[in-house]
Amino acid sequence: MPATALRSEAERGNEPDAFWMPFTPMRAFRQDPILFDRAEGMHYITPEGRRVLDGMAGLWCVNAGHAQQHIVEAIREAAGRLDFVSSFKMSHPAAQAYAARLCDFAPEGLDHVFFVNSGSEAVDTALKIARAYHHARGDARRTKLIGRAKGYHGMGFGGLSVAGLGRQKRGFGPLLPEVAHLPLPYDAGLAFSLGQPERGAAYAEDLEKLLDVHDPLSVAAVIVEPVIGSGGVYPPPKGYLERLRAICDKHGILLIFDEVITGFGRLGAPFAAQALGVTPDIITCAKGMTNGSVPMGGVIVSGDVYGAFMAGPPDVIELFHGYTYSAHPLACAAGLATLDVFAEQGIIAQAKASSVTWQARAHQLKGAPHVADIRTLGLLCAIELSPKPGAAGTRGAAGAKACLDAGVLVRGSGDTIVLSPPLIISQSEIDEVFGVIEGALATLD
Ligand code: PMP
Repeated sequence: MPATALRSEAERGNEPDAFWMPFTPMRAFRQDPILFDRAEGMHYITPEGRRVLDGMAGLWCVNAGHAQQHIVEAIREAAGRLDFVSSFKMSHPAAQAYAARLCDFAPEGLDHVFFVNSGSEAVDTALKIARAYHHARGDARRTKLIGRAKGYHGMGFGGLSVAGLGRQKRGFGPLLPEVAHLPLPYDAGLAFSLGQPERGAAYAEDLEKLLDVHDPLSVAAVIVEPVIGSGGVYPPPKGYLERLRAICDKHGILLIFDEVITGFGRLGAPFAAQALGVTPDIITCAKGMTNGSVPMGGVIVSGDVYGAFMAGPPDVIELFHGYTYSAHPLACAAGLATLDVFAEQGIIAQAKASSVTWQARAHQLKGAPHVADIRTLGLLCAIELSPKPGAAGTRGAAGAKACLDAGVLVRGSGDTIVLSPPLIISQSEIDEVFGVIEGALATLD
């Protein structure tokens, strides 16, 4: 008999090590575990019944707020109707319907979606599509990939390779060869910019400089988050993405926007591409697609990209790639219901309207203890703190802990406090979030 069968559930519950948690210092977590049992609207609820205001939309994903009943019901109905069907050489009505509606939601010209199960899978799929696109067009030389400093693109080997957060690569090498990186389009002079910095478009010229070093005819794609998210919320300077687009066009290089965070209303438009007026060739998305309820990701591609694959002989598999759970019926149902909720509740309009006060209120923290920079766009915010002498990189976690103790969930990352609330946040909740942060900053030594 397995040993676990001899122990009561309560005893087993006291052994949190069974669950080896992602991105978590296990031994520290064991000392001070954080558990949430339920969620509704803007709040998480602990097993003891304490309500915590969610300043992170879970993990940048529950954009329409928790426990949206229409989504809950859609998942329930889907589970009872069709638990699973492969998407290899067969499909189901919800997958067809969701693909069509998602492409309508996406920027004009991006008309085809490949379904996956996470942001990491979306990125690795997009990178493979980019290389295979050139290959399909008879240009197999184009294999190099260009990412950007502070970029986060998930934890697959492809995403990790193009990412610009070096510490995350430690211990996992060697990664993909032939990857180059653009520098961060940011400098100290841009600190405390509200929204997109007015200056800094010239940082895009670094792409031309990279292409001088790497033969442009060897480059398949450039991948950037329109707004750097996990790397610390860096909005693009005005004109920067436009310039990247123009340089990619000039050299026949595909431009990929990783919109895993910026998609689904975060910037007050369906995607950052529409909010910022720049259309890439490929968009990766995940998180907000199902309002965080069922794992799902997508790679949305232009007619040109798709067309390159369809030009070959008709009896071959055009893209030899996919996952068992691609277009899972529960995920498609949740995705369709999420788009219903967005339309019926005007979620994007709400985000657009409240982002004005959100950003203004965030910038009122300028001058608060330890605050070194504040960066905002849409309903995103990073409050960068000056490092604690002798303990650089710890202020974010300390700030996040103080906020949680005061009833608000934020994310601590290095010396930065990061915020990405559900888009349904009210004016009084915006005040509550920043009021609690202000109080927490005053307690940090
Ligand atoms: N790309 C970006 C821009 C992300 O922010 C994330 C997740 N934070 C990912 C990819 C990876 O997504 P997942 O964790 O679903 O694999």
